[in-house]
Amino acid sequence: MIDLHMHSTMSDGSLSPEALAGACAKADLTAAALTDHDTLAGTRRFLRACEAAGLTGIAGVELSAEFGPGTMHLLGYVPEAAIDPLQAALLRVQESRGERNDQILAALDGLGCHVPQEEVLAIAGDGVVGRPHIAAIMQRHGYVSSREEAFRRYLGKGCPAYRDRYRLSSNACISLLHEHGGVAVLAHPFTLQVSASRLAHLLDDLVADGLDGVEVLYPEHHLERRRLFGRLAQKRGLLETGGSDFHGDLNPAISLGRGFGCLVVPDSMRDALMSRMMGQQARSVVKEEHGW
Ligand code: AMP
Ligand code: FE
Ligand code: FE
Ligand code: ZN
Repeated sequence: MIDLHMHSTMSDGSLSPEALAGACAKADLTAAALTDHDTLAGTRRFLRACEAAGLTGIAGVELSAEFGPGTMHLLGYVPEAAIDPLQAALLRVQESRGERNDQILAALDGLGCHVPQEEVLAIAGDGVVGRPHIAAIMQRHGYVSSREEAFRRYLGKGCPAYRDRYRLSSNACISLLHEHGGVAVLAHPFTLQVSASRLAHLLDDLVADGLDGVEVLYPEHHLERRRLFGRLAQKRGLLETGGSDFHGDLNPAISLGRGFGCLVVPDSMRDALMSRMMGQQARSVVKEEHGW
């Protein structure tokens, strides 16, 4: 059993990269990918800790692409050598989070919720700051009774304190990952909030841009969604992947590897991912040598 989608304290998870690797071993996972939002700051630590704990660590990242009305996230899986260059390429995206968070705090202030910035930064620690951190401090100060409520009333897309930030287009996300010898997988397709036929067309466009796979197994994907996403992926020769999107205490309903309890991501998905990555690395080396 494996898990290809999880977050550490470097983004909005509550476990450090080392503690996360330890938890993966305890959950009997044979392979795990760290996919923090927009950052690979914890990736090397995670890979070393996985090695020590006796499981295969995979370098990953979760990028937010321009999309509406729902949310499009792309998971990238990259070779270890890509960690530093990709991290450098994501600097502008990381900086835009800071600007956006300031705007959100100002908007909240205008709505009567004073959320001290230093408290938000303190719980984010070394990691990139995200809305879940803001939601946690809103809850601490009693403005909302749960983080869910914070998203529903204030922070979610379309809500009064929602502010957008600089994002790459899906095409740019996919190219960036390919340039670094990685593969690009559409995360949790249900968050796109589109019909099945619209999703099919969207996938065709993404495949034309080079998309490699679809996250078919995911806690919120019940049987019907798994069947639909699996069929759409197979028809286009795409990889099928899966993961829990574990965030630790920031989303306590989700268990590592197991999601709400019945998620099982088979080892065969790791093998298929690894072989697709090998192909992608070979292509990116050829492109570099020929100056394409
Ligand atoms: P950000 O990275 O700042 O845009 O925040 C996005 C993150 O917020 C997601 O990755 C989730 O971890 C979390 N999130 C998004 N929507 C919700 C929601 N409705 N309830 C709880 N957490 C959410
Ligand atoms: Fe998150
Ligand atoms: Fe996501
Ligand atoms: Zn995620």
